[in-house]
Amino acid sequence: MKVNLRDLSFSELDSLVASLGEPAFRSKQIRDWVHSKNAVSVESMTNLSKQLREKLSATHCADGLATLKKTVSRDGTIKYLFGLKDGLSVETVYIPEEGRKTVCVSSQVGCKFSCAFCATGGMGFSRNLTQGEILGQVTEVRRDKSAGDPTNVVFMGMGEPLDNLGAVIPAVAILNSPDGFNIGGRRITVSTVGLPEQINKLASAGLNMNLAVSLHSADDKIRSSLLPINKKYPVATLAAACANYPLKHGRKITFEVILFDGVNDSAEDSAKMIKALHRVKSKKVNLIRFNPVSNPALKPSPPGKVNAFKTSLENAGIDCTIRISKGEDISAACGQLKADFSKKSAE
Ligand code: SF4
Repeated sequence: MKVNLRDLSFSELDSLVASLGEPAFRSKQIRDWVHSKNAVSVESMTNLSKQLREKLSATHCADGLATLKKTVSRDGTIKYLFGLKDGLSVETVYIPEEGRKTVCVSSQVGCKFSCAFCATGGMGFSRNLTQGEILGQVTEVRRDKSAGDPTNVVFMGMGEPLDNLGAVIPAVAILNSPDGFNIGGRRITVSTVGLPEQINKLASAGLNMNLAVSLHSADDKIRSSLLPINKKYPVATLAAACANYPLKHGRKITFEVILFDGVNDSAEDSAKMIKALHRVKSKKVNLIRFNPVSNPALKPSPPGKVNAFKTSLENAGIDCTIRISKGEDISAACGQLKADFSKKSAE
């Protein structure tokens, strides 16, 4: 099978170009085609000589992802189901908001972590995505004329990005690089279920990006019922890894919290959260409205309780925002489109 040019690091591309007996500037031209001009074929790289295109095509390709399904929400959110070379598929969501256009990418096919509120968690795990498959999701959204040019990328789709650091670290580097997608580090966010050892590894990669952590509760019993990984890495261990995470100037770790009615939304819950996050110096909390399609047993916390939770965090000096779910009419929560598609394909 041909190697996709999106799967190469810049230095690997340099070596490839040198091995073909071509001058070094060809590497930059190919990078431009793949990461800036959204090329999905070697043939379309028209400033390369015909001879080079033929040599390159013998072993490499720039194939994009196949759009298996595309659903557009009333609020402009677009959800894609992209097909991969081996027949598997992943979801990507495009979210237009005031001042930014965000692509939410998947990092794995399925997921190992079985979070109680997540449709992907119920699918099991198939495999990691490659660097090229992660970058390819952003490229396909850029190629879609009905979506605006993405300004932000979040790793909050299917899979746990920190369980696939081998592909996620180089993908973030290329998204951020001026020679790649040239997306600023403040506009790239990697979100984790909370894997302390992997958070430490990510810290040593020295990437320019934001870190978000799915916290949901600071009570170990409650958090373990929502995120089974908490049994292995309890809240105190996770909070310690977050406290040690080196933040660039002015950055904050974002803690994501979905409040469920009667589960994790009491005054006692907010007090525990304030205490648990005490050691993390630079932080903010996002309270996210739950999209109940993924688990009918869990109900969203009513607005009054969400506001009270927010006030108690703010009174303790924690920056807190209530986030509204986008694309609810198109099942935009992670894993839902793929679940729908698989169900319909089986019918
Ligand atoms: S929320 Fe994220 S980590 Fe948890 S099951 Fe879903 S995809 Fe996996």
